[in-house]
Amino acid sequence: MPHTEIDFDRPGKQVGFIDFPHSVHTDAWGVLPVPLCVIKNGAGPTVLLQGGNHGDEYEGPIILGELVRDLDPARVTGRLIIVPAINRPAIEAGNRCSPLDGLNFNRTFPGNPTGSITEQLSSYVHDVLFPLADMFVDLHSGGSSLDMIPSAIMEPCNDPGLAQKIRAAVVAFGAPINVVISNYGDPRTSTAAAVRAGLVTVGTELGGAGAISPEALKIGRNGLYNLLAHFGVVAGAKPDRQGVPLPVHDITGAGAYVRANQTGVFEPFHRLGDKVSAGQGAGRIHFLSNPDKTPVELVYEKAGVVYGMRQPGIVRPGNCCVVVASPSEV
Ligand code: CA
Repeated sequence: MPHTEIDFDRPGKQVGFIDFPHSVHTDAWGVLPVPLCVIKNGAGPTVLLQGGNHGDEYEGPIILGELVRDLDPARVTGRLIIVPAINRPAIEAGNRCSPLDGLNFNRTFPGNPTGSITEQLSSYVHDVLFPLADMFVDLHSGGSSLDMIPSAIMEPCNDPGLAQKIRAAVVAFGAPINVVISNYGDPRTSTAAAVRAGLVTVGTELGGAGAISPEALKIGRNGLYNLLAHFGVVAGAKPDRQGVPLPVHDITGAGAYVRANQTGVFEPFHRLGDKVSAGQGAGRIHFLSNPDKTPVELVYEKAGVVYGMRQPGIVRPGNCCVVVASPSEV
């Protein structure tokens, strides 16, 4: 079973590890140590902060590492449970999925305590950490295959009371754009599972392209403190955008994604942030070794703003080339 020396109820700041038993050829009785920090002071809500869900999304682990090092426990009212690098094997490989079992951590919830190592990680988050928390923050970026507009993210939520709290928290983050994302309705993400568990859940997409964006880092740092102030857990932070009704966009239908239907090289027609309309050309797929063949054009199904852009040029049928966020009707 996973084990930690950290006492979740002890006041002050503790930094350590959750040790997941991991018995392999080179290490029969070894463990996978996943960093954990708990900061507790006084009575208040518990916020669970997760970074490193995908191993090629760097802003979240950087921002949470700064929080671990910099935050004075005296400023806390309540408890922060900080897991800056939950998917440590993927982070050390700089890879979206785990090199240990090939799984995408964010498609394994609610996890399985007797499953593979990635399923054990998600099971620990779901079964041990979620019940301790009132709020959950999952800091993503776009990863190697996508660049994205820095944004705060909410899952669709059927509970009107919880949905209202989630929306207020997302707005308090103060990102340039707020987006509702259902991941094709997938229930296996950490944020979808957290919403089902009743947690006030905020996600982010802080840039991407498998690189570190200074602009996204700044938005993420400010946003996290805005959010913690909004939750009333960290004093001294000044929520600069709290209560301001920023525009909310939607990526809830399959039509938001422009996907390749050929094997070739995708040439985009637009950049992140461009406004586009339904039926407009999104780009075209070239066939580099068949110059006689006319490129195939892809079109947008939905109007909105170009929110995510594929990074590798080479595409195969089904690859996501462009993501459009449409203004919400709410
Ligand atoms: Ca991600």
